[in-house]
Amino acid sequence: MSELRYCPIKHLWTIIAPERKQRPDEFWHGRDRAPAALGPDPLAAGNEALTPPTIFAIPAAGDGGGWQVRVFANPFPALRVEGEVAREAVGLNDTVAGVGAHEVIVETPRSDAELADLTIDEVAMVLHAWRARLLDLRRDVRLRYSLIFKDKGREAGASLRHAHSQLIATPIIPTTIVQELNAARSHFRHRERCLFCDVIRQELRLGERVCLETERFVALAPFAATSPFETWILPKEHRHDFGLAADDELRALAVILRDLLRRLRVLLDDPPFNLVLHTAPNPHPRPGRPEFWTTIEYDFHWHLEIVPRVHRPAGFEWGAGCSLNPTPPEEAARFLHEADPEAG
Ligand SMILES: [Zn+2]
Ligand SMILES: [Zn+2]
Repeated sequence: MSELRYCPIKHLWTIIAPERKQRPDEFWHGRDRAPAALGPDPLAAGNEALTPPTIFAIPAAGDGGGWQVRVFANPFPALRVEGEVAREAVGLNDTVAGVGAHEVIVETPRSDAELADLTIDEVAMVLHAWRARLLDLRRDVRLRYSLIFKDKGREAGASLRHAHSQLIATPIIPTTIVQELNAARSHFRHRERCLFCDVIRQELRLGERVCLETERFVALAPFAATSPFETWILPKEHRHDFGLAADDELRALAVILRDLLRRLRVLLDDPPFNLVLHTAPNPHPRPGRPEFWTTIEYDFHWHLEIVPRVHRPAGFEWGAGCSLNPTPPEEAARFLHEADPEAG
């Protein structure tokens, strides 16, 4: 069984997940190795028996049967659904039992298509699946957060080639989210405005870090981007919870997301990338802290963060917690703005 361990010095959680154990010689050291997927593609249509049972599916368009998006539990989970959330401390060491969920969201039945290759309707279906899984897992009061993310390419951590995203639901709120929530709440307390809305307004006024803008969304290179071509996509209107996004908002998000992914592919020669959805945590009451989520609706603002893995963090970055980014975000935004998404 996995266990979440908290470092009292760095204030960081780590999931110790022995079920995903690798022998020392199985670790991938970043060296090029032949792609592992020579057998059948376990995520392709027709191979469902190679993976755990379907939790959720969106049927394919038309009446040919089959699915367009399919979700199943990760067979090598970082966290498992069964069990009590036992919070313990032994001396300085806080632990939480590894209760949670780890799901795989297959984005297309096709082996040869990337998220960026799908039609707008198909990308929107992936976003529908994200929303459905978030809302479903939110009913489990043991879980405080569901993080949806996508790893594309081996250097970004993907072990399968087939287009997929993942969801990990945790009995704690991950540190990055806590930091964002705290920053947003403190800004709101002082100014009675959403920090993200303020950033969006300022960036749209300045224009120099805007990569793409549509009627409802904006893609920005953040002012202090931690790595080349880091890009955030945010709804222009204030929205705290992705779980509440309407169908037409998801379709508008599909348009800008696919456009951005295509531009990154053209500019950076099909880069490995990570994508993450940051949204409000599960709104369960916290014992003894009735004021906990009272302003979340006003102070937090959901967004996607996308980071192409074209730059390998080195010792200074790891040791100092301070990124070295060789590409100014203003330049990245200009390149993205001028790129032809259809050139790939
Ligand atoms: Zn906002
Ligand atoms: Zn974020």
